[in-house]
Amino acid sequence: MSAGHARTEPRLSEFALIERIRQRCAHHDPRVRIGIGDDAAVITPQAGEELAICTDTLVAGRHFPHNTRAEDIGWKALAVNLSDLAAIGASPRHAVLALTLPSADPVWVDGFAHGFAELAASYGLSLIGGDTSRGELCITVTAIGSLPAGRALQRRGARVGDRVIVCGELGLAAAGLGQLGLEPELGRSLPLLPMTPAHRWVQKLDRPQPQIAAGLILRERATAGMDISDGLLADLGHLLDASGVGAEIALAAIPGFAELRAALGNDIALRYVLGGGDDYVLLATVAAADWPELQTRLRDQAATSATVIGQVVAQPGIRVAAADGKPIAPIRGGWDHFA
Ligand code: ADP
Ligand code: MG
Repeated sequence: MSAGHARTEPRLSEFALIERIRQRCAHHDPRVRIGIGDDAAVITPQAGEELAICTDTLVAGRHFPHNTRAEDIGWKALAVNLSDLAAIGASPRHAVLALTLPSADPVWVDGFAHGFAELAASYGLSLIGGDTSRGELCITVTAIGSLPAGRALQRRGARVGDRVIVCGELGLAAAGLGQLGLEPELGRSLPLLPMTPAHRWVQKLDRPQPQIAAGLILRERATAGMDISDGLLADLGHLLDASGVGAEIALAAIPGFAELRAALGNDIALRYVLGGGDDYVLLATVAAADWPELQTRLRDQAATSATVIGQVVAQPGIRVAAADGKPIAPIRGGWDHFA
């Protein structure tokens, strides 16, 4: 069937839409006693476990460009939540999906469910309920994870002398957004052909990879942790505030900075790695003595390349040193929906 024909397929009823999503995203799980189809889901807690629960909303045009593929939206709506579960050190188990759609287009719904299911399947996560309504495209996922009782990794706990580490590259997703032409004042437009850096950046934006395995390792040893979603300075600021400490960061040590500087120049690279959003990379503080073994475990057991970007100090606030060691002027960083 041609794509043109598919577009003229009749709109789905609400029931048919839910059924299509259920077929792709719900699956048998002994923990789920009652799933999609009743008024509420019922799950069975396991002895010795605690549940971690988080929720995140994606609004079209704000959290993803309007022309983002349905598959990528489905993936990302779940991925941003799994990143929060990773940050606290939980294993993903279930999700609830509140979907607001302008129309029940079966091609779009199938694409969305496919992207969501692709990520869900890699963690054995089952969709256990949701809500469907009509309006501007907006997706809210609530994710439920589990972890051994008392073992959650929190934002508070960083101590003076700890290393500040990140589990991946920063700024690339923000650079991808820039390359899509959505921040004209920042982006130089580079070719978006496959295999080019700009193409890789857009992939980072559309398909964030939640760092679940890294979160499980960090929860054993890190003193504090969270995920970076609103920019390094903003999110590190939250962790430091919760811990009552400050930090010194070396710009040149931040993974992603060198690549972005070579492609886009120093000033734009600096803004992307310090203030860009959508990284979904874990940030943690680790006692200096624990770092070598932790770095090796992250590499060997979680395929994660983790890097020290600075250290925790007593003086509150964040000081960033440029490559030549000179402090750089404070810049406004991070994403605040109401700023
Ligand atoms: P109610 O009116 O009682 O809230 P609904 O008719 O909205 O129930 O939903 C029927 C069932 O389908 C419920 O089990 C609900 O959790 C599930 N459901 C509704 N929308 C979705 C969705 N987008 N994704 C997954 N499950 C959904
Ligand atoms: Mg009801």
